[in-house]
Amino acid sequence: MNTPRLEVHLGKLSDNVATLVERLAARGVVITGVTKASLGCPVIAACLLDAGVHGLGDSRIENIERMRATLGPNPRMTLIRSPMLSQIERVVRHADISFNTELTVVRALSAEATRTQKVHGVVLMVEMADLREGIMPDAVMKIVADILQLPNIALQGIGTNLACLSGTSPDAAKMDSLSALANAIEQRFSITLNIISGGNSANMDWVFGTQHHGRVNDLRLGEAILLGCEALNRTPIEGPHTDVFTLIGEVIEANVKPGMPWGTIAENSFGETLSTYKDCGFVSQAILAIGRQDCDVTALDSPAGMDLLGASSDHLVLDTHRQNIAIGAELVLGVHYGSLLRAMTSPFVEKALLHKPPLGDVQKAMGMAANTSHVGTAHTQPGTTQRILRFLNF
Ligand SMILES: *Cc1c(COP(=O)(O)O)cnc(C)c1O
Repeated sequence: MNTPRLEVHLGKLSDNVATLVERLAARGVVITGVTKASLGCPVIAACLLDAGVHGLGDSRIENIERMRATLGPNPRMTLIRSPMLSQIERVVRHADISFNTELTVVRALSAEATRTQKVHGVVLMVEMADLREGIMPDAVMKIVADILQLPNIALQGIGTNLACLSGTSPDAAKMDSLSALANAIEQRFSITLNIISGGNSANMDWVFGTQHHGRVNDLRLGEAILLGCEALNRTPIEGPHTDVFTLIGEVIEANVKPGMPWGTIAENSFGETLSTYKDCGFVSQAILAIGRQDCDVTALDSPAGMDLLGASSDHLVLDTHRQNIAIGAELVLGVHYGSLLRAMTSPFVEKALLHKPPLGDVQKAMGMAANTSHVGTAHTQPGTTQRILRFLNF
């Protein structure tokens, strides 16, 4: 297999989805599986569907198109970012539902849906203080009234997104006001809202910590199912695996070097300056042929027994703590959200989809995605060590 590569342990992913689907079902909540961190990989999407997600959500129409091409017309696909006016045709064509905050956009969706004789579903996103996307609560009734007049638009529900930009937590008060707003809309307009989408992986503490879920019946989960973590404090959720994804790098240099640079020290290639760093004498360091183009060094776990010293675009430097490392050896890094996103996006990182035994839909998608993915069996496990970066001031 090539290096660097991102190994995707589909069996573990499937376990994670099944576990959370079951636990949330007991609370009347379904999962929309969010695929953006996996770049709309059709195999991963098929794995999520097989394991019981209610539908798929992605912020990029390109990813939705990629999944549609492999998975066909049936899975419910939601564009979870407000559509760009320049992409309206593609959105109506490939997404069943989109999240919306602008009447101008919904009007354009309506015109395109009418032109192509389709019905496009709309979920209105409501601002609840994270200050990213969302209609201010006092403006919601007016926009609902306008949307209900638009042909070929089905108002499916409302939603909110928290803890993404400002870290505003989805607590009981926020979720209660979302439920109250849903009830008020239904009463005012004598309609039924099918989808009350309470949030993302930051909603784990709330959803498992209360008996009162109100009207919330949908959560959009990426990180929780992909990485087994909730997103408020990045705490592992009890049950799911946290090592669905591992990043494999190849050693291109192993040498004993001074622990500190010498000479006149200025900024490095990323504008960072050397932080206060205790010189511990000589260090046995190993270089992996992987860098910031392929991963986020602040979102990695070092290989077992090693520490991360730093990284430039194409080199990742480790303190091996005197372990004897052969040139050409493969080392395993643990992956957090930022690294998952970048490794999936980097054309230099091979995506190795590992599964035994393959499942129905997953197998079908694997066949169709074979050009872009290597399929094999798992043989590596991540190490866990703390991160000590020589360059700390990111
Ligand atoms: C990315 C995203 C999600 C999923 O977030 P996770 O923290 O990965 O679960 C949900 N909703 C919206 C609107 C998003 O942009």
